[in-house]
Amino acid sequence: MQIVILGAGYAGLRAALDLDLLLRERKRTDTVILVDQCPYHQLVQVLHHTVASSAPVQEAIYDLATLLSKSKVRFVQGRAAKLAPQACQVILEDGQLLTYDRLVITLGAETAYQVPGAEANTLDLRTYEHAVRLHNHLIAQFTAAAKTSDPQEQRMLLTTAIVGGSYTGCQLAGELAAWADDLCRETGAPRPQVRIALLERGHLLLRDFGLWATREAERALDKLGVSVYLDTSVESVEPRALLVEGGQVLRAATLVWAAGVKGPDLLRASGLPVDATGHVRTDRFLRVLENPLIFAAGDCAVIPDPFAGQVPATASYAMRQGSHLADSLMAELEGREPRLYDPARLGGLVSLGPEYAVGNPLGIPLTGYPAVLMKKSIERWYRFLLTDQS
Ligand SMILES: Cc1cc2nc3c(=O)[nH]c(=O)nc-3n(C[C@H](O)[C@H](O)[C@H](O)COP(=O)(O)OP(=O)(O)OC[C@H]3O[C@@H](n4cnc5c(N)ncnc54)[C@H](O)[C@@H]3O)c2cc1C
Repeated sequence: MQIVILGAGYAGLRAALDLDLLLRERKRTDTVILVDQCPYHQLVQVLHHTVASSAPVQEAIYDLATLLSKSKVRFVQGRAAKLAPQACQVILEDGQLLTYDRLVITLGAETAYQVPGAEANTLDLRTYEHAVRLHNHLIAQFTAAAKTSDPQEQRMLLTTAIVGGSYTGCQLAGELAAWADDLCRETGAPRPQVRIALLERGHLLLRDFGLWATREAERALDKLGVSVYLDTSVESVEPRALLVEGGQVLRAATLVWAAGVKGPDLLRASGLPVDATGHVRTDRFLRVLENPLIFAAGDCAVIPDPFAGQVPATASYAMRQGSHLADSLMAELEGREPRLYDPARLGGLVSLGPEYAVGNPLGIPLTGYPAVLMKKSIERWYRFLLTDQS
């Protein structure tokens, strides 16, 4: 059998490595092909560190060829452009055609720009490339601010506005606030003029965690000097300006859009069943509805949860779904019934600068330095897991 896995993120890489291990244990010769547009695996959950770090950091990426070197997984670098489920084929952007007996879709999510001008006038943070671009952009703005004598221009150059108060927005705001001292020292920009604004349409930050977490996050961000604006809806975006409901304008040289995600466009375009935001719909076996040969996991999928409606889109869930899929595929190959995917209550942790975090790992509310330590341990464990298998 030939199994093609699209996307080498948390879900896809784990599915590939675990399946390879199972196949080798059973001395089977089935082929596993892992496809990604990048030559590296990205630790998306540390991208805010990449943005806000003075030293050039590559700690957010791992070379896929090295990670796969001990396995029999075949890596194909390419961008999936189209799926042809009837013919069991994947067509890559360069024209390459891959056929499959089973397909696993783990392509992650894309940024959804819900208001006019957002796509053209903001930066986003979903990939390592985005993080490096944002890092360089900020250095350029602060350097320009150090050179100008116009106070209004300086204020604008040193203002960063982040739209969206979820994981990405909160973590980025906290990290940028902590980086500002170093950045000003290195570029000569005046620290008192630096302003970081976090705008959220709803009345909670980190709404998945509930009211207590939002209050903790607001307090921690306020302490770092981040201005949080709740119940603030951005209506459109122009170059260097956010137009907010009620007619207010926020001018900033750095605008970051972290306010929405959607499933990859190619899923809808290929005729797969998707929800209103383009996430592919699966059953509780992670099998794409009406497509018995196709599975999906991670941020690109909408997976039913019998207790919570749908499974949260985080790295921890994605990784475990990848592992689950490896087991399910092995069961299929051996003619056994696959197991239902049962999402454990993993909870989550969000950093708010280097010295504070908040979250509910395994459902237990945790704040402050213990939460930082736990978040760091989880990250270290994941890095260990990656390098241990390569
Ligand atoms: C800034 C930020 C911070 C976060 N922090 C946390 C956190 O602290 N904890 C947590 O649990 N979660 C966090 N998350 C969420 C977490 O990163 C995602 O839930 C996780 O990355 C989802 O894993 P995935 O495997 O579904 O997708 P991804 O990890 O995004 O992987 C998708 C892969 O598919 C590839 N790909 C995409 N399209 C194509 C294509 N057309 N062809 C070929 N390859 C393609 C990409 O290159 C990528 O390698 C954070 C997210 C962001 C953006």
